[in-house]
Amino acid sequence: MEIIRARDMGFCFGVRRAVDMMEESARQSGPLTTLGSTVHNRQVVEKLRQKGVEVVAKLDEIEGRPVAITAHGVGPQVIDALGRLDVPVVDTTCPIVTRSQQWAKRLAEEGFAVIVFGDPEHKEVRGVLGWAAGHGIAIADEADLDHLPDDLPSRIAVLSQTTHTEARFAAFVRHLFETRMERISELRVINTLCNATTSQQAAAQDLARQVDLMIVIGGRESANTRHLAEVCREEGVETHHIETADEIDPVWLQGRQRVGVTAGASTPDFSVDEVVARLEEMAAAGAPAS
Ligand code: SF4
Repeated sequence: MEIIRARDMGFCFGVRRAVDMMEESARQSGPLTTLGSTVHNRQVVEKLRQKGVEVVAKLDEIEGRPVAITAHGVGPQVIDALGRLDVPVVDTTCPIVTRSQQWAKRLAEEGFAVIVFGDPEHKEVRGVLGWAAGHGIAIADEADLDHLPDDLPSRIAVLSQTTHTEARFAAFVRHLFETRMERISELRVINTLCNATTSQQAAAQDLARQVDLMIVIGGRESANTRHLAEVCREEGVETHHIETADEIDPVWLQGRQRVGVTAGASTPDFSVDEVVARLEEMAAAGAPAS
């Protein structure tokens, strides 16, 4: 059995930058907190905790300690609240997310209704909507476009959660235009997709076409990891999304010649190495037993 790694996968520059900034701050100034998980990956969160970076869920749990804004970014309301608490802030918002936030703010100020194609519960999307200051709406699925409020302004701007696939964003915009054309006087589409994500998706797609099984590694809460798995499944190949090597079921490998491995942007190299090592052990052991 051949095990092939995608040519592009794992930690993106935005996550690497955020983790480095937090580690550096903890080294220099002592323990700090993050508002929510740094990345949607339990192994990374645990390693950071050992270095003095603790996740808190709410502002009132900060207790005067320095706080890091994660790579997903936050809305201006959270920045104002941190200012009132008067605690040191380490802002690790990914520059690509900052660009989305700036577009949301600018377009809302220019009178557009800002539609964000993304999960309304996702941290990045909530933050971007915050910058639209009440003029934004998140839509998770193109089918939900049929239920847009009737009183939406006729000038519409569309952004995407950074980790969506190009194909889904294009389909979303097409559907929006087709279903609301008579009510839209101006449509602005800003490509806020992340290059790191689209490059990883393209690499996963290429690999999925060459193998008979795909293993996608990353946190279950990680949007970009889930989208990688979607891309692979769309190629018709059996795909399993796992967080750790322990989840690999030997039955998956029965009769496989080529197994592809890819990982989300929040998945550290050691997770990938563990999975590949486990697959190699299973391949060396021969026909797997369930
Ligand atoms: S996936 Fe893209 S947008 Fe998200 S943190 Fe990484 S580089 Fe930034």
